[in-house]
Amino acid sequence: MKDQSSALESWTYIARSDLAPDRIAVYLPILLSIIGAAGVAPFAVLRFLNGEYIVAVLDSVLVVSLLGLGIMVYRTRKIRFASIAISILCVLGVLATVYLIGLQQLYWAYPATIVAFYLVKPREAVVLILGMLAALAPQLLQSGMGIQSIVFAITTIVMGTFAYAFAVITNRQQALLLSMATKDPLTGTGNRRALETKLEGLVAKKERSDVPASLIILDLDHFKAVNDAHGHAVGDQILCSVTEILNLRIRATDSLYRIGGEEFVVVLEGQEIDRAAHLAEQLRTLVEANELVPDRAVTISLGVAQLLDSESCGDWLQRADDALFRAKESGRNSTRLAA
Ligand code: GH3
Ligand code: MG
Ligand code: MG
Repeated sequence: MKDQSSALESWTYIARSDLAPDRIAVYLPILLSIIGAAGVAPFAVLRFLNGEYIVAVLDSVLVVSLLGLGIMVYRTRKIRFASIAISILCVLGVLATVYLIGLQQLYWAYPATIVAFYLVKPREAVVLILGMLAALAPQLLQSGMGIQSIVFAITTIVMGTFAYAFAVITNRQQALLLSMATKDPLTGTGNRRALETKLEGLVAKKERSDVPASLIILDLDHFKAVNDAHGHAVGDQILCSVTEILNLRIRATDSLYRIGGEEFVVVLEGQEIDRAAHLAEQLRTLVEANELVPDRAVTISLGVAQLLDSESCGDWLQRADDALFRAKESGRNSTRLAA
């Protein structure tokens, strides 16, 4: 995951990856837009009743825009545009209210700062908040409240600095958490959890738009004997070397996972079984050709299956596993296709 993402995006990524039990992160912009609209709406009514029509209209525009963005996120589940728009709206709201009503409205700058650092990328929030301070500067300078203006500017900058540090640290921690939860520590490939997420996505894609997908499950032959003869450390090194060989041959759209001790899965997105079978044979001959230990050839057995209509991930993987079993039964170092 990119380092420079918003805290919200990081959580959303994790929630979409099914790593977080709830998906609340996806709903936070909706919640923020409702809270923002509910917070401003009473003021719109009050201003209207007091005959302050310009402010009333501005407040109403803010309420409608925030609600509109909330509805957009609800319908499309796309948060990036809404997050930027909500942050900009909050800052514009602060500027409008300070210029129209007066400096007693400056307190709104604090929640706007927090919202910006939560919703958009830290650097974007810095630009937005510095822009807000610059736009407020003429009003502050004219006001004659010298010391208070300086205190306001400093407290906003201090708050922004803490929010920036917090956002950067949170993003890094979440990236680490995501990596730990989805990667196999020995080989750096995806783990079983990442595979499940991938397969679920492909099953959904097939149901939606009939995109084909295939997978190869492969297992090192007689690996226990290799371990017994050479030791566990050499065994680990072989697992890493096999990973390198597989990674070098698969395409950018294919993905590799280690799902058990010496068992891997290659997922081929958008590919039918013929191409998967061809790749499986290439991988088998490549591993065999590499002299991974001096005294014997390290070989693999492979099972290949294409996702069928209305098939579950579990059944798809099971058919590939059955094919792998047949490859083992037929003497190993071979590829079998699922029925
Ligand atoms: P088969 O051809 O039937 O697959 O035989 P096998 O010996 O590979 O299969 P078996 O399931 O009997 O043994 C798997 C072995 O893989 C057991 C263990 O020694 C080894 N193994 C599992 N995970 C690791 C690991 O993380 N590192 C190392 N070095 N060895 C592992
Ligand atoms: Mg094995
Ligand atoms: Mg095995």
